Amino acid sequence: MLEIRGLDVHYGGVHALRGLSLTVAAGEVVALLGNNGAGKTTTLSAVSGLLRPSGGAILFEGADITRDPPHRITARGLVHVPEGRRVFSALTVQENLQLGGYLVRDQAEVRRRIERVYDLLPRLAERRRQRGGTLSGGEQQMLAIGRALVTGPRLLLLDEPSMGLAPLVVASVMELVAGINAEGTSVLLVEQNAVAALRVAHRGYVIENGTCVLGGPAAELREDSRVVEAYLGGA
Ligand code: ATP
Repeated sequence: MLEIRGLDVHYGGVHALRGLSLTVAAGEVVALLGNNGAGKTTTLSAVSGLLRPSGGAILFEGADITRDPPHRITARGLVHVPEGRRVFSALTVQENLQLGGYLVRDQAEVRRRIERVYDLLPRLAERRRQRGGTLSGGEQQMLAIGRALVTGPRLLLLDEPSMGLAPLVVASVMELVAGINAEGTSVLLVEQNAVAALRVAHRGYVIENGTCVLGGPAAELREDSRVVEAYLGGA
């Protein structure tokens, strides 16, 4: 479904991605692990068209999207939820969700998708008239993901959804990811929280210095001594 081939990204003189390659198959949750500055966020930004790569290729469902503008990529069903849950704090939950439908012509379809998000996330339904800024961190993260669902993703790019959340809330965010995946949406999940990510993912990659140094089924990565030492808090 998604294939990244030999991707290079520069920020001025900084060579942030160095020939990075990875794939996401239809129906998969794939975790992208790595330390601060490894290149995880840069990878997602390149896939969603926010950054122009200096080399390599990005294919989505067989089409070369490497140089497509962000709105064209979103319209194909590749939807990015950036780091830091950017909900509109002055807008209500309902209005935030409606914004997710801005590329969708069929307004009845947008309403159906919003109701689907409320079914999946009853806490948001209870708060539909509340302003985004008054929600807890976990609820804001759910709202950011809910808004992406209204856009109609076939592949969801999630950047550190667990950041700054308490363990119980992290668990419910990961449960949401599993639920979204069970309904047929593929997910590329960037996480520093390797334990949580490898629990929900089918496969994973480890990025170091802008390239994938390790990849495999999540069950194998959980047992891999290099992953255990570097990302799962020692042996
Ligand atoms: P984090 O978890 O901290 O977001 P990351 O793995 O997502 O880490 P990136 O944010 O993709 O890492 O950063 C990869 C490299 O690119 C780092 O060396 C970083 O310093 C550099 N970088 C990122 N954004 C910029 C920018 N706007 N200008 C210059 N360098 C940047």
